[in-house]
Amino acid sequence: MGEPPAPDNPPPLQAPLTQVNLYDEPDALGLDIADLGRYIVSVLPAVQAEVRRDFLTHHLAPYSEAQRETLGRELLAQFRRAHVGQASGPPVGQASLRSRSQEEPLEAGETTDLEFYDGRLVRELLGLLLPPEERDPGLLHLVFTNWRLALPNPEGDFFQALSLFSTPTLISLTGVLEALAPPREYDFLRAQLAMFGLEENLEDLDEQFAARLLAPGDPRLGEVLKGLVLQALFGHLWGAVSCPDPDCRLYNARTYGELLHAQTRPGAGPCSPHRAWLRSLGGAPERA
Ligand SMILES: [Zn+2]
Repeated sequence: MGEPPAPDNPPPLQAPLTQVNLYDEPDALGLDIADLGRYIVSVLPAVQAEVRRDFLTHHLAPYSEAQRETLGRELLAQFRRAHVGQASGPPVGQASLRSRSQEEPLEAGETTDLEFYDGRLVRELLGLLLPPEERDPGLLHLVFTNWRLALPNPEGDFFQALSLFSTPTLISLTGVLEALAPPREYDFLRAQLAMFGLEENLEDLDEQFAARLLAPGDPRLGEVLKGLVLQALFGHLWGAVSCPDPDCRLYNARTYGELLHAQTRPGAGPCSPHRAWLRSLGGAPERA
């Protein structure tokens, strides 16, 4: 807890915010973007929230069928370029990424559930599809996706990311379920079961730790996503996406325990200084 709390007064606005466009991920279990849109309007009533279909469907819609086909092929090729590796080891917890060398290209149509893409290239690629009138600095594009996003770390390899705050902003739902550290005990017991060939008991273990982990379709997912949405709003407005206070929705959680504490306990919300920041824009933060 070396870091001082956030200051009571917000720094100068980095950008205005008039509208947030939320893009759906139809394959994500338990994602309710209409509810997240209502959350945005509830904390910042001056901001409009527009709920849209998934990003590619929405932004490819103005093109003719032939153009969509060409663009689709080009996008696919570019996505292959953004492919950085596959997970090795168990899919839960901080999956370590095995780099995939250039001479080992993806086979046509080859996908597995654990492919990772360079978040920076994905963001760049999606950004190219934004029409000029949608690049207004007062607009925030929030893209919910099942893609697994990877970002480089200082050691020169990649880590799995939950989000990328940028234009557009990406929130990876697979990242939310996989990228943080599970309880140590869980990791230990899981490794033990695997060592003794007792994989059939993994389901029981998951059940035993359910309260301290996040699973697809978990009813707490909506509350967890509110924290990421709030981080996106703060990032856009003030260039500040994290808070040293573990009780604040802007806290940068490293473990599922921390994440669930910050986002899902009764009365979850931003800390007192960050509530003041929202109020400075006429906002009505939670825990008022
Ligand atoms: Zn805070």
